[in-house]
Amino acid sequence: MSTVSLTINGLEVTVPKGTKLLDAALGAGFFIPTLCHDENSPNYGGCRICVVEVKGARALVASCCAEAANGMVVETESPAVVEARKTILELMLANHPADCLTCDKAGNCRLQDYAFRYDVKQPNFGGERKDHEFDDSNPYINRDMNKCILCARCVRTCKAVTDRAVIDLAYRGFKTKVATALDAKLAESLCVSCGRCVSVCPVGALTYRSFSGKARMWEVEKEQVTCTWCDAGCQFDLVRKDGKAIGVAAKNPSEGRPLCLKGRLGLELRYNDEPLKPMLKKDDQFVEVSWTEALGLEEIVSKLK
Ligand code: SF4
Ligand code: SF4
Ligand code: SF4
Repeated sequence: MSTVSLTINGLEVTVPKGTKLLDAALGAGFFIPTLCHDENSPNYGGCRICVVEVKGARALVASCCAEAANGMVVETESPAVVEARKTILELMLANHPADCLTCDKAGNCRLQDYAFRYDVKQPNFGGERKDHEFDDSNPYINRDMNKCILCARCVRTCKAVTDRAVIDLAYRGFKTKVATALDAKLAESLCVSCGRCVSVCPVGALTYRSFSGKARMWEVEKEQVTCTWCDAGCQFDLVRKDGKAIGVAAKNPSEGRPLCLKGRLGLELRYNDEPLKPMLKKDDQFVEVSWTEALGLEEIVSKLK
């Protein structure tokens, strides 16, 4: 295998030809922040937070897309790099709800982590703000597009499944947003609630409804469990707080197959610690009923009588 040698932060590094600067730096133990980068759909280069300084280059280089080359001299945290990352974060936060105190993603949010690392407190930019309607139409997934940073990881991961492509970037400029066909609510789209998009969203734009308001990220424990509803054997995370199951989460697609809806429903029932409440649809609304009514026992008894 042919290799290239370069210098990263003063350290001589040799990597296989074709390796991206991002992977070369991470492999050598250096930190580079990423938001849109996804190892399953690389070369996107949308957010630019991963820029590095390459000696002799005219501008900062997106390390997720640039290949390492012989003799390159790279700095991953030079003053110019840090300044650029701060500006990118300020621009994102200028149009982002100041919602960390109550956001379900707090504690596991890359935007929050990077703002902390680069000491970005108060955005220096004013102007128009996004005002998208909160979409809680899907029984499993909440969508808050006001928190979306347009990294398109959800779009790419949904499209990666043949014939799926339920969501895409829609509109232009300031109005750009992730939307379903005809910008319908998620429940009215062809979404199969697999949760792949939620597992790759780096911020709180996509979250699981079952966990909403139930736990802070640092309070939960995850246990890997294998679904036995079919022979595919999908693995997923059972999420517990204080030993009690509060929901089921799809794993990142890079860690295996995501859960299908059958698996999600079956496993949520399997691990549900709450007593089950039967629901029946009456006048287009689900209402809680007794088990006797749900199982049709009253009708059977009356017919027998
Ligand atoms: S998405 Fe991240 S940065 Fe935004 S409110 Fe939630 S925790 Fe804070
Ligand atoms: S839940 Fe699955 S099908 Fe629905 S939008 Fe997300 S990735 Fe696509
Ligand atoms: S919803 Fe999440 S994953 Fe999708 S584009 Fe927005 S921030 Fe990225």
